[in-house]
Amino acid sequence: MSDHGTDAAGWDGLCRQCGLCCFEKLEDGRGKIIYTGTACRYLDVITRRCKIFERRFEINPHCVKLTEELVPQLNWLPPDCGYRPPPEKFTRKSCRERRKRGGRR
Ligand code: SF4
Repeated sequence: MSDHGTDAAGWDGLCRQCGLCCFEKLEDGRGKIIYTGTACRYLDVITRRCKIFERRFEINPHCVKLTEELVPQLNWLPPDCGYRPPPEKFTRKSCRERRKRGGRR
């Protein structure tokens, strides 16, 4: 069971099928991710579904397998990607700890 409360079979179901991760991206000098209009050749841009989903890693060696361990490291996934954990709830304690770490007040 993952932090998302899903087993391995439910993992794929977290995807919202927005298709954004399947578009080429650029990163500006400040680290901001810019999504281009160029989609992966295997993305159906109308349905936003992968046309080779079951065989994607076999057919396209550049396709990235999203795992719970990998997702937090990928700055190019949109903030509302279904695989991202829900945002942290802010409590007085978490805000105090954040201030100690030098976060915004
Ligand atoms: S960005 Fe996330 S939610 Fe959108 S298609 Fe990609 S994996 Fe699914």
